[in-house]
Amino acid sequence: MTIDSALAWLDNFAHQVTEQKAYLTELDSAIGDADHGINMARGMTAVMAKLETTTPPTLDELFKSVGMTLVTSVGGASGPLYGTFFLRIGTSIGAVSSCDGAGLAASLRAGLGGLVARGKAELQDKTMFDAMAPALDAFDAALASGRSLQECTAAARDAAAVGRDATVDLVARKGRASYLGERSKGHMDPGATSTAMLFDALADTIA
Ligand code: ADP
Ligand code: MG
Repeated sequence: MTIDSALAWLDNFAHQVTEQKAYLTELDSAIGDADHGINMARGMTAVMAKLETTTPPTLDELFKSVGMTLVTSVGGASGPLYGTFFLRIGTSIGAVSSCDGAGLAASLRAGLGGLVARGKAELQDKTMFDAMAPALDAFDAALASGRSLQECTAAARDAAAVGRDATVDLVARKGRASYLGERSKGHMDPGATSTAMLFDALADTIA
């Protein structure tokens, strides 16, 4: 991953959450407070605006900037969660202008660690973790069997989508949706849906 491909990834993600803003908000209206699309579109618009004014020269600064912007511009739970994810990617990736597949996988894994440190989510809590954790496992498995970066990100994208779809049958144990208990069942988790978009954007960009 280079500075240019990182920018392309973030730009693709920003476009997806903006185009799907109404859909993400509709998902959140069923089990939350109807603002996930608004939160993500606002956050990623702020991220891209800041990166356009000053593009950091190294990946660590770039991802730290993304994380800081999300933490400060998004009011909902997703701001600090995605924000911490990107901040930890930034601290892990190093002051480099590019990294290989193993470096990217390790940094994404560090990002997931940040998300968990923040939100304490576990598998099947019906959160963005349920899309992200399988995506990173699939990335690592593809990497270990010698696949190309393109194949690794495609595997991550497919696993994130499977994880997202599996949130439908789950009862929420974290976040606002957990207040609904059993009634949260039967609805796709909005955060897992935006996370699947994040990995779709990554695969799109690397391909
Ligand atoms: P809010 O819940 O504050 O309105 P959003 O609607 O933007 O924030 O985001 C909701 C999403 O955040 C949920 O769909 C879920 O995926 C994710 N989420 C909530 N709490 C947690 C948590 N503790 N850990 C991981 N993800 C969480
Ligand atoms: Mg919400």
